[in-house]
Amino acid sequence: MASIFSKIIAGEIPCHRVYEDDKHLAFLDINPLAMGHVLCVPKMEVDYMYDLTEDALADLWKFTKPVAKAIDKSMDCLRVGSAVIGLEVPHVHIHLIPLQSVEDINFSRPKLNPSKEDLADIAQRIRDHI
Ligand code: 5GP
Repeated sequence: MASIFSKIIAGEIPCHRVYEDDKHLAFLDINPLAMGHVLCVPKMEVDYMYDLTEDALADLWKFTKPVAKAIDKSMDCLRVGSAVIGLEVPHVHIHLIPLQSVEDINFSRPKLNPSKEDLADIAQRIRDHI
């Protein structure tokens, strides 16, 4: 099912990319819960994570590891939290969020609205650690 993430993957809509391989893309969430909040998506159009094949599901989680390690190194956080929600965008994605407290991964909290410049700076910092 095509969604806004298909357009991001195709490069038709801009994003702040942090990492990519032939099957996956990692980019900054435009309205993060905490600065350094990254979305990891498979390039294949699938809505629900548990409709992925076992191999595709394992590959997606493997893809998150270097991204999470880079967030760990580049952001001031205790650790990186992972979450799967998917109620807004119908394309599988894993949220990676640098945590100072459990409140940083509270999805009912108001989101941030950083400038493009701040997002570009954070994306570069994360890329520099991959
Ligand atoms: P979920 O589907 O897991 O509930 O949330 C989707 C996430 O995608 C939200 O955190 C939202 O801020 C993010 N998001 C929605 N549209 C865009 C977009 O066009 N660009 C980027 N970078 N993130 C988006």
